[in-house]
Amino acid sequence: MTGRLTVIGLGPGAEELQTPQAKAALEAATDLFGYTTYLDRVPLRPDQTRHGSDNREELDRARAALTLAYTGNNIAIVSSGDSGVFAMAAAVFEAIETGEPAWREIEVTVVPGISAMFAAAARLGAPLGHDFCAISLSDNLKPWETVTRRLKAAAEADFVIALYNPISKARRWQLGAAFDLLREVHGPETPVVFATAVSRADEEIEFTTLADADPSRADMRTLVMIGSSATRLVARPDGGAWVYTPRRADQPTGEFVS
Ligand code: SAH
Repeated sequence: MTGRLTVIGLGPGAEELQTPQAKAALEAATDLFGYTTYLDRVPLRPDQTRHGSDNREELDRARAALTLAYTGNNIAIVSSGDSGVFAMAAAVFEAIETGEPAWREIEVTVVPGISAMFAAAARLGAPLGHDFCAISLSDNLKPWETVTRRLKAAAEADFVIALYNPISKARRWQLGAAFDLLREVHGPETPVVFATAVSRADEEIEFTTLADADPSRADMRTLVMIGSSATRLVARPDGGAWVYTPRRADQPTGEFVS
């Protein structure tokens, strides 16, 4: 008997930002897997079983879910935001690729969610209106040299950068090092935004510039957005501002270092 595994993005936090498809898939599941903090956001019925695990055990969690799915159960694995962005969907496919050949028979569905960068962008205005990239600052799963190479390339190519996983208890210095590196390429007035816990009760949005960006403003729930040379602020009468990146890119205005 071969069951079903649905990989579900729960969105950034607010229930209204969860898609109807995600809600339906959660309701249909017999078993729910995920990082316990994310599973806490899912109402559980008495007939559903919850398999919570630690944040770092993604591959083990994927294998456990696939093992149970193969017995015929209807399994859901949850991630925050979109499950394909620095999250469980890739772990599931890696587990399938390297695991039991029979797991390839399981019906796997990936349900998209609103990723933190889109939720944050919507709060700010339209910072992702032109070319952008997403980089995870975590060096748990890749060498720090890879992170710096990509950051530098992204800045030199003048992408808007959405930085995920900017900081954690074990990674204190990386965000400061990233800002230093970006300052070598971008001007001091480049907009930087710290968007923390977007769409949750404790949401906080802070605008600053690359010159003044203070890494201690970020925590594990922060998406850091760094503008391109075209990203600008539109001041509002209440002292706030919208941030947007125009649709049209003219000749490069940034300083390009080859
Ligand atoms: N799959 C998730 C990302 C997981 S990585 C997604 O698509 O959003 C975890 C990182 O996502 C955090 O360190 C933070 O940078 C970002 N993040 C997740 N939820 C967030 C939220 N509500 N507000 C701001 N950033 C968030």
